[in-house]
Amino acid sequence: MNAKYIFVSGGVASSLGKGIISASLAKLLHARGLRVTIQKFDPYINVDPGTLNPYEHGECYVTDDGAETDLDLGHYERFLGVHTSKANNVTTGKIYHTVISKEREGAYLGKTVQIVPHITDEIKRRMLLLGKSGKYDIVITEIGGTVGDMESQPFVEAVRQLQWELPEEDCVTIHLTLVPYLSAAKELKTKPTQHSVQMLQQAGVQPDIIVCRTEHKLTSEIRRKVALFCNVKPGHVIESIDAPSIYQVPLNMKEEKLDWLVLEHFGMTDLPEPNLDNWNAFLRKLMNPKHKVDIALVGKYVELQDAYKSILESFVHAGAANECKVQVHSIHSEFLDESNVVSQLGSMDAVLVAPGFGERGLEGKIVAIRYAREHNVPFFGICLGMQMCVVEFARDVLGLRNAVSTEVNPSTDTPVIDLMEDQKSTTIKGGTMRLGAYDCKIEKGTLAYRIYGRETISERHRHRYEFNNDYLGAVESAGMKASGRNPETGLVEIVELPSHPFFIGVQFHPELKSTPECPQPIFVAFVKAAMEYRERKGKDNK
Ligand code: GLN
Repeated sequence: MNAKYIFVSGGVASSLGKGIISASLAKLLHARGLRVTIQKFDPYINVDPGTLNPYEHGECYVTDDGAETDLDLGHYERFLGVHTSKANNVTTGKIYHTVISKEREGAYLGKTVQIVPHITDEIKRRMLLLGKSGKYDIVITEIGGTVGDMESQPFVEAVRQLQWELPEEDCVTIHLTLVPYLSAAKELKTKPTQHSVQMLQQAGVQPDIIVCRTEHKLTSEIRRKVALFCNVKPGHVIESIDAPSIYQVPLNMKEEKLDWLVLEHFGMTDLPEPNLDNWNAFLRKLMNPKHKVDIALVGKYVELQDAYKSILESFVHAGAANECKVQVHSIHSEFLDESNVVSQLGSMDAVLVAPGFGERGLEGKIVAIRYAREHNVPFFGICLGMQMCVVEFARDVLGLRNAVSTEVNPSTDTPVIDLMEDQKSTTIKGGTMRLGAYDCKIEKGTLAYRIYGRETISERHRHRYEFNNDYLGAVESAGMKASGRNPETGLVEIVELPSHPFFIGVQFHPELKSTPECPQPIFVAFVKAAMEYRERKGKDNK
């Protein structure tokens, strides 16, 4: 059987939740037994988001095979429970990079290289790539940006051509729009949706299904109006109402029969109903917590929720696993110091120090770590957060006052965190960090072993600096244990303090692999430790 293709575009405004709609549809199809993947085509010129500041584009999500990608791939993995790869995120930069390299190699000798057909052909090739691998029944392609943007035109043109080239029953196009509510007039307005669809039609693409993001229920009158003026069947106008949790959206889409409409188009109506038992069990726990905890998230990008997307979602999963509402309090590390640490962290049940790059806010992270270490507050450090707990320990316990990472001070005499050997000669910034999944061997009898319950784990990395093993002996003799190491290189991946109730730092990014149906074990244990700490302190936990 040929793979079937679903294209999802967006109009009227950005941030309507195209990624969540795509992931929800994927979830429903997957839950009916189909092999589904989702890919995102982003219209910006960066080759990948790896070089973007989190303020620009939120978190950079890393796949097992080491691709630095858009954070929507995180949603895809969390909803589907299926790993994505390099091929699942394509940008304008990647497309041009390929076409220009081919031009230099002489692949188009004699020809003028143009947006149509050369750029659009390369877009189409990549849109069909995963479908042709034979590994998937359904490929959902989300087009980033908003229809009408100059940047997305070649992508919309590629969809137009594919709609024409592929057999009709192999291709569905979905357009997500906004139906705003005017409170003064007490009315939902369809005109922006009409204009957005007209724009798509002008580009030659007729959507098969229109999904309307709305704050209020769509009346049948509104649905009829959208259908009539956008040229789709009346039953093909779908309501996407604001949901209390993004994880509720697959159920809303099932209610609206989005998956059914797609399957009807594909002539695949003989599939079983979606099996959502585990998903529903997760949602029940999420919506009915029996406990609560307050956890500090100490980082420097706290102004932007999306910068720590996967960490926040991991807390949602781990909270549900513990039937506990995790109230995450963002603490700006740049403004944290000895004078205000008690007022900022004193009421917290646990402290997480976030990943990051550069010097800004670093000393605040060290202050937070010292507070958690000295006051027996459950602590979890991720990547830069782990590196800083080594620096803090070296300074305060080993008495190495100048201990620092060479990321901050390349000429320090105490480089407890140092550039990896293979990074020293690297000058190019894009795609050159230690990226993707690596094995880690855990020592038995440690906190890490109790958490994972096995010796070999695999987690994803994204960093240039490492624990400097020249200091390993001294650090371990003083009471900090390197409980997880890379089996090939000996690099330290996990540190912990056996004398502390719960203190763990990890060089990798465990948040990238947490899903509602398979919550990440360190997050689950960390939330549990926070609950126990709260109980010990006699704070009400309801
Ligand atoms: N800046 C640190 C490094 O490059 C940590 C990176 C991170 O936290 N992802 O090693």
